[in-house]
Amino acid sequence: MKIIDLSFNVEPNLSEPMSIKIKTRPHSGGSKFGRKIIFMGKRSLKDKAMAVIHYMSGKERITKKSFPDQEFINEQRISLSVHTGTHLDAPSHFGTKCEGKRPKTIDEIPLEWCYGNGVVLNFCNKGPCEEISVEDVKKELERIEYCLQENDIVLIRTDTDKKWGKPNYFYEAPGMSREATKFLVESGVKIIGIDCYSLDKPFMAMVKQYYRTNDKKCLWPAHFYGREKEYCHIERLTNLDKIPMNYGFKFCCFPIKLKEMGAAWVRAVAIIE
Ligand SMILES: [Zn+2]
Repeated sequence: MKIIDLSFNVEPNLSEPMSIKIKTRPHSGGSKFGRKIIFMGKRSLKDKAMAVIHYMSGKERITKKSFPDQEFINEQRISLSVHTGTHLDAPSHFGTKCEGKRPKTIDEIPLEWCYGNGVVLNFCNKGPCEEISVEDVKKELERIEYCLQENDIVLIRTDTDKKWGKPNYFYEAPGMSREATKFLVESGVKIIGIDCYSLDKPFMAMVKQYYRTNDKKCLWPAHFYGREKEYCHIERLTNLDKIPMNYGFKFCCFPIKLKEMGAAWVRAVAIIE
């Protein structure tokens, strides 16, 4: 069995316009932290006053020398968007209603949707800001001689991931049209993945088109289709070019269980037997 990693590192870089803040408490700064942990432990016994007296009286002394190699365990805190890195968007991200009902949040996505037969559709011939149409999807299915099955996980390959780390990753990518998204969802697909910043075209391309036409259908058509019919999509996949077949492999992307959130980070993989 071979597992192909289809996720990016979560890290601050030029392809992520939203900031990621990381605070690290290193192993070497641990003795102070160790004392704090002991203090917190006493607080959790609901004996706060006694704990303070005990701590202050100096009966317990934790210093660097208390730990092997004079190092304590480290700790990191990270502040980032739920849409940072490779992640799964839930229907609740798309609007307040889905099929007229309350939409599923990320913690409510059935895990059965997140593991299944993967299908790669290749649209590397599409230029920046070009739309992937329903005809393109049908033609590609014909080319690879595949008929979509219920719960297939369709991966849209554009090779935009090769721009990762550069600003143009954000504004030079193709995107799925509403009709192409609709076609996949109506064929029984619950999860669509793409190796771009968004399933839709880049933000500036959509906004420019809207200013030109005054047609609100130009704005986030694939996302907003998720209000009409329930589906999820994965954004910022990578390595789709490393999957050696178009179908006949398993795909897996369990989201982190963030309660009532509209998206969550995934470790997406292709499994090849
Ligand atoms: Zn997203």
